[in-house]
Amino acid sequence: MLDLIEELWFLKRDIVSDDFDRALYRLAGEVPNMKIHQYPTGEPCWTWRIPEKWTCHEAYLETLDGRRLIDYGDNPLHVVSYSLPYEGVVTRQELMEHLHVHPRMPDAIPFVFKYYDRDWGLCASQTLRDSLNEERYRVVIRSDFKPGTLKVGEVVVQGESQKTFVIVAHLCHPAMVNDDLSGVVVGLGAAKALLAGSQPYYTYRFLILPETIGSVAYLSHNEALIPDMVGGLFLEMLGNDQPHALQGSYMPSSQADRCLVSALGVLDPDSYCSPYRQVINNDERQFNAPGVRIPMLSLSRVERRSSPTWPYPEYHSSLDTPAIVTQERLEASKGIVLELIRSWERNQYVVNKFKGEIFCSGHGIWIDYRTNPEGHRRLFEIMERCDGEHSVADIAVELNIPFQAVWEVVEKLHSKDL
Ligand SMILES: [Zn+2]
Repeated sequence: MLDLIEELWFLKRDIVSDDFDRALYRLAGEVPNMKIHQYPTGEPCWTWRIPEKWTCHEAYLETLDGRRLIDYGDNPLHVVSYSLPYEGVVTRQELMEHLHVHPRMPDAIPFVFKYYDRDWGLCASQTLRDSLNEERYRVVIRSDFKPGTLKVGEVVVQGESQKTFVIVAHLCHPAMVNDDLSGVVVGLGAAKALLAGSQPYYTYRFLILPETIGSVAYLSHNEALIPDMVGGLFLEMLGNDQPHALQGSYMPSSQADRCLVSALGVLDPDSYCSPYRQVINNDERQFNAPGVRIPMLSLSRVERRSSPTWPYPEYHSSLDTPAIVTQERLEASKGIVLELIRSWERNQYVVNKFKGEIFCSGHGIWIDYRTNPEGHRRLFEIMERCDGEHSVADIAVELNIPFQAVWEVVEKLHSKDL
């Protein structure tokens, strides 16, 4: 995963761009079956339209005597993504209106985008901006807007059922890593693991896309798939040094919410869960939205909202580099995604073959209340709810215990043919 990040991170992965395509085709080489959907510029997608392909050929800021202060060739973040072209001499004041800096970190170049509300713009460190004391500067931005195609990569792991769990990450954002190349490589790693295993019950669709418009393009062109999409997980910001955060869907009582939320605590004891829109907002909004209503949760390593560096210190800046992610943390996140999927596969309705209370000692499942009072109480509380009306996750939520603890008892009853 880190090798892929090293290879792809510095590409200029603007939402519709040649480098986005390069990165996506490179990732397609990692799996046998990635389908690449293409949506042409201007194509309506519900209330949206696919934007033009944007290319910046060259851009810089110079003093009038030719001293170069900012160069797009050094870092693609120096130009606002989807900046209009501009060439001319500007006063310092005019320049300041178009020169963006990071609000908090004086040496970082911020990531700024103007996909729809267009203007020309450059980005620099606060330190550089503070050093500008000449009256006039030369600005050159040679960008162009051309018809192109927005691309969405899709990997399907076909299950026994057409009921689908959809996993999404976004590949856009030039020269950044944690947001969200980290989610892309973790998702692709999980897809590879599923493809190598035995056939799951659910079908899994992994989508790699440019944020927001990519999700709208895919959903609006695949409406027939929506009724079968019974749950989903958005993956982002999974390489930085923080415990996992799980954000619930718009439908907190969905089986996907109940299952994933009740399973996470055992997998990362330092993790936390928060309701919809309380951790961070991204593509899961398009899946949860009116007319779609797929319960999609979001897994990240985002700091709590109260943190002054929320969502993480290097967010949307030139400091979001491979230096802030590790292979170990990416592997841990991939492991958690696969464990959440394992729980999702196990989240069945528990149908009792028994009537009355089970004769536990007679079936070898008795837990002695004198040596294990907690285990004894739980066994009875769980058995009581094995009635065909509760899923494993329903029982876990009702008893406020981990999904895995319920599964252990259910599996034992199943092995005894109960
Ligand atoms: Zn972002």
